[in-house]
This record gives sequence, C-alpha cells and structure tokens, in this order.
Amino acid sequence: MKLKIGILALQGAFAEHRKMMESLGAEVLELRQKRDLAAKIHALILPGGESTVQGKLLRELEMFGLLKKRIANGLPVLATCAGTILLAEKLCGSSTVHFGTLPVTVRRNAYGRQLSSFYINENFAGHPDVPMPFIRAPEITATGAQVEILARCNGVSTAVRYRNQLAMTFHPEITGSDLIHRYFLEKIVISRLDNLT
Ligand code: GLN
Repeated sequence: MKLKIGILALQGAFAEHRKMMESLGAEVLELRQKRDLAAKIHALILPGGESTVQGKLLRELEMFGLLKKRIANGLPVLATCAGTILLAEKLCGSSTVHFGTLPVTVRRNAYGRQLSSFYINENFAGHPDVPMPFIRAPEITATGAQVEILARCNGVSTAVRYRNQLAMTFHPEITGSDLIHRYFLEKIVISRLDNLT
C-alpha cells in the first residue's frame, strides 16, 4: 500500500519535503485550501517558513479547525521549524498559540541575528552524525513530562516526539539525509495505520 502524505503548502519550504517523501515511495498531496482536506491522508507535514503567515492563512482559509482536530485525534505529524511553532502549546512572550497540541514551550527566532543560520551534525534518536541546518530557528525552552527528546544541541532540545507528533527546530528536508523522514514513516506513520483519517 502506498502511504499518502499531506503537506501543508500555504507558504515556506514544502517542496523539499515533497521530494524527500516521494523518494521514499510515498504519495504526496499538497494542502492549499479547505477542500484539499477532504482527501484521506496517513500523515501530515508542517513545513518551515514563517509561522505567523502560516497561522494567519490557516485561519483565513478555514483549514485551522479541522487540522487541529485531526492532529489532536492522532494523525501523525512531522513538523519542522515554523511547523514546530504551530504545534507548540506555549510561545514565549506571546499570547498567540496556534494548534497547541504539543506540550512544549518555544521561543521564536531564538538564536539572534549573528547566529541566525548554522549547521551541526548531531545524534538523532541514537543515530550519530545526522545533519541539522538551523535557519532563523526557534528554541524549545521547556518540554512536558511525556515528551521524548530525540536530539539536542548544546543541551537544548532540537527534536522531540509526543505521541503522534514529531517536531524539530531544524530543517532535515534540505539535507542529503532522509533518516528523519524514514524514522517518521517507520516509527509513527506505519505503526498507526489504523488511524486513517
Ligand atoms: N523564524 C520563523 C518563525 O518564527 C521560523 C523559521 C523557519 O521555519 N526556518 O516562524
């Protein structure tokens, strides 16, 4: 069976996720408007970009409520950078929250101008030397008790998992490594196939 992956394609780095998922044999649907949400999907990708713009468009296009409900009901989600900001339960210094389904606190643009983009190779879930590019990245400043920390940079969490949600503050889709996309498909999507929504 071919897995169907919906990628939120309102703004940001969605094309790179598409290529990565297609190279792994999945079928990709770009979600651009409310009617695209009628299709059955096995998983959702929330790409990087600008979370304020994405949050505004999601609401204006009336996609927000349905996606939030599906995520809360267990639809597997892979979120990168701005996508992680959309999932976070709390945003530092802001009363705005988007989906709020991931029990973490996130600080936007946490690395300042000098360090706004950088690249490291770090462990991810026991796999060594996984490439992690950070681009105007947020920082995960606190994690709820049931959140599993999969990667860190200088002691700060950079990738986390909570139930159906895998979220990171960097951009695995622009690297030559598909390890994280494969991890998502194998550990979260395939193991939850009963939850076809
Ligand atoms: N700085 C962006 C935001 O606050 C996130 C950057 C990214 O997704 N690369 O939404």
